[in-house]
Amino acid sequence: MSRFWSKLAHGLKPYVPGEQPSITNLVKLNTNENPYPPSPKVLAAMAGAMDADLRLYPDPSCGALRQSLADYVGLQKDQVFVGNGSDEVLAHAFQALLKQDEPLIFPEITYGFYPVFVDLFGINHRAVPLAPDLSILVSDYAGNNGGVILPNPNAPTGCLLPLQQIRELLLANPDRVVVIDEAYIDFGGESAVALVPEFDNLLVVQTFSKSRSLAGLRVGMAFGQAHLIAGLERVKNSFNPYPLSREALAGAQAAVEDVDYFNMPCQAIIERRQQLSQQLLELGFSMTDSKANFVFVEHERLAAAEIAAALRERGVIVRHLTSHPSTVNRLRISIGSESECEALVAALREII
Ligand SMILES: *Cc1c(COP(=O)(O)O)cnc(C)c1O
Repeated sequence: MSRFWSKLAHGLKPYVPGEQPSITNLVKLNTNENPYPPSPKVLAAMAGAMDADLRLYPDPSCGALRQSLADYVGLQKDQVFVGNGSDEVLAHAFQALLKQDEPLIFPEITYGFYPVFVDLFGINHRAVPLAPDLSILVSDYAGNNGGVILPNPNAPTGCLLPLQQIRELLLANPDRVVVIDEAYIDFGGESAVALVPEFDNLLVVQTFSKSRSLAGLRVGMAFGQAHLIAGLERVKNSFNPYPLSREALAGAQAAVEDVDYFNMPCQAIIERRQQLSQQLLELGFSMTDSKANFVFVEHERLAAAEIAAALRERGVIVRHLTSHPSTVNRLRISIGSESECEALVAALREII
């Protein structure tokens, strides 16, 4: 607290990111990072961008990266937006598209940044409860609202909506923007990007952080019709016209273009999610049907806080999100490498 803070700064409840510990030999399964390294072509492209041209500002339009992304998904460059992590892209979407007179609606249990953004930007909003099995009922997202945002798969539940239900959501809200946050879509879901040409109210947000192993690079993107992208550009150019560095632009473009590299890590994580879920079931856990790179589990006997603390003593960190009573006894565990998952299961066997 400081008497110099603005009223705004006083009133904020900032997002608390998962711990990034300084001790290096921990098994880190708390922030959904990818256990595989990024494509070697990413590192080479970034090294190539580290030259005397760093004295120059990067391309403010991020044109080459947007063109590569457009080619990759089959859209036009003016239907693609990029930003400094998808968190920044989301922030622009909240300001440019989701701040309306009627309440913005999003799931009651969802990505923890949404409630933070609505407070920061003063956005009228309403949280919609999940079904008892923690899934999203799209029929709850209709009627009078100022816009809809939800992750698909949802976080931290991992529950996936099939594309047909995203379509129903779009049809139910023809006069409002629907933002689908696809941070985890590459781990078993079907992207709504294919619906962009058909729906003028759809914005799909994705990130390089999870499936492309580039959380440290800070690059995210959005796909939508040109009029929506132009709205995001207006906010971006009123805030920071150079959100991506020269290295980030080069690295992200190389990642998109290395199509062959992309599939193996995603497939391996999907298979390991399956194996780990089976092992956790045998240890007395139940879980949602996650289609993300994490599982969301609850133990039949032991409390989540107790398990998290015992894991931590054994050098394994997982995420215990305490924000909602109906999920307070659950843990979100990222799918790590094979040896990390083995260490997790070994530690759990001791604890249980
Ligand atoms: C991880 C995550 C993001 C943020 O990703 P960055 O691109 O790293 O900012 C956005 N939405 C959801 C649901 C996430 O889990």
